[in-house]
Amino acid sequence: MIDMLSGILFIYGCCLGSFLCAAASRYATQESLLFPASHCEWCQTPLAYWQLIPGLSYWCLRGRCAYCQAPIPVDTLIAELGGGLLLTTWHGPASTQPLAWLFLWSYAAFCDARTQSFPAWVGLVNLVLAPHPITLATTLGLLLTTTAIRWGWSRWSRPWIGDGDLEFISSFGIALGPLATSRWLSLACLLALLAHWQTPHQRLPFIPALTVSAWIWWLLPGH
Ligand SMILES: [Zn+2]
Repeated sequence: MIDMLSGILFIYGCCLGSFLCAAASRYATQESLLFPASHCEWCQTPLAYWQLIPGLSYWCLRGRCAYCQAPIPVDTLIAELGGGLLLTTWHGPASTQPLAWLFLWSYAAFCDARTQSFPAWVGLVNLVLAPHPITLATTLGLLLTTTAIRWGWSRWSRPWIGDGDLEFISSFGIALGPLATSRWLSLACLLALLAHWQTPHQRLPFIPALTVSAWIWWLLPGH
């Protein structure tokens, strides 16, 4: 049975997911977070309040803009439902930091899906939020790895993996150890292969696959 707290957390999580997805769209179009008001990305018509209800509007509109009938990106729905489900797992201080970390990388994933990049500040906030055991070795490991990646990638002309992907993978590895990392990476690669099978001729952003894999492992019982 769904208790009241889970229901409230789900609604807040839907709103947060919706906000992160909208913020990523504005990162892609280089618009400010505040202006203009929410609008259709295709016809630019401002949206009415009932078209902005996270988790419900997508269903009411049947996935299309009410004015120009352009399809609303499906990751809007994934962001809202995923955000809602993630936040229902909040159990006080113990899960605050890993959840904040997952939401941070969710934002990076929405940016990566649109532009194959994400803002540099995500990597810096990652240093604070990555839920690693606070020891000198893990703190130094996280700092040195991030610095090395940033130094190396600015000098490497044709890297075969994105620096953002490697920042996420290395911080996950340092935070959660080799076993959890190998499980997480295996599922992410499977998801990426499925996505590649659907759109074989497009360059694949990997952060969304890494993030959805992290969501799934987090949501599984006994994570
Ligand atoms: Zn429209």
